[in-house]
Amino acid sequence: MTLGNGNGQHLVNRNGHGKTALPQFYFTIDCDWVPGSQVGLEMLLAFCDRTHLKGTIFFAGRFAEAYPHLVRDCHDRGHQLGTHGWAHGGLEDDEDFRVASYEQQRRWIRQATDAVEMAAGIRPVVFRAPNLSIGETTLRALEQEGYRYDSSVPARRFDMGFGRVHYLKYFWSPLEPYRPSGNDLTMPGESPLIEVPPSSCLFPINLATLRTLGLPMVQRMIRWIGRRSRHLVFYCHPSEFVYAKDQVFPDAMSKWNQKGMCPANLSILEAFLDYVLKHGYAPTQMMGITVRRLDSGQPIVLRAGSFQSDRTYREEGQR
Ligand SMILES: [Zn+2]
Repeated sequence: MTLGNGNGQHLVNRNGHGKTALPQFYFTIDCDWVPGSQVGLEMLLAFCDRTHLKGTIFFAGRFAEAYPHLVRDCHDRGHQLGTHGWAHGGLEDDEDFRVASYEQQRRWIRQATDAVEMAAGIRPVVFRAPNLSIGETTLRALEQEGYRYDSSVPARRFDMGFGRVHYLKYFWSPLEPYRPSGNDLTMPGESPLIEVPPSSCLFPINLATLRTLGLPMVQRMIRWIGRRSRHLVFYCHPSEFVYAKDQVFPDAMSKWNQKGMCPANLSILEAFLDYVLKHGYAPTQMMGITVRRLDSGQPIVLRAGSFQSDRTYREEGQR
């Protein structure tokens, strides 16, 4: 493991969009409402302490309500706190932010925000939608609840039946953090929120992909993403580090996903982190990111070395 205080350059580049040549790595954890999975969060916190990694942790409100001491612990250890819906769909119906009414979405967001605030004494301003299911209405609801960051738009992702993202609406949205348009989340605009897309190369850069496709394939995906974006957003779930028999899952969760859940997944995570750091990524957190104002409709071209935006790439590909 290469990360540590001894290797300070990884730790000082907090949000250097435009300020640093190093690409940024965001370690994020989604705490869905899965009773029993809190043990996995404890393991992840110990892992982060050991590797001096600070992440952004998204809590379903019911998780925060059930385990307030863990939420507080995350904050005390220097992780940023966000919310992840109220019940996430949890053990009952799915919470779908793409189709729910504005009032319903505000209620879910408000309840989750209150639960995290009750637990840790700070009011979160970072959001990730359950199942990355988000719409323009969610943007308005988040704005009204005082949120400033979202990390839900699944750019370049299509799960082909394996995961939860089977729609193409957001496929060509930007890979770099951007301010979305209130009328169309896939376009840069004037929203007060900053969207930090969870990284994908068809499949998401997450632990389930690592478990299923293996590190060599994920390395190729990261190289593909690295040619198009200077931001790599990874996520995992506490439930993935606990045996399925010790947890209570929502009906909607696939049996396939439950199969590989075990504490040994920490080794996979460690190998992944090692690769990311050796390839020059600097761990950073979401709060504090700034983005340049982009004219909507204009191609996004960053001029850093051989880096090429995906939109430019796509236009060239069409010639
Ligand atoms: Zn989730």
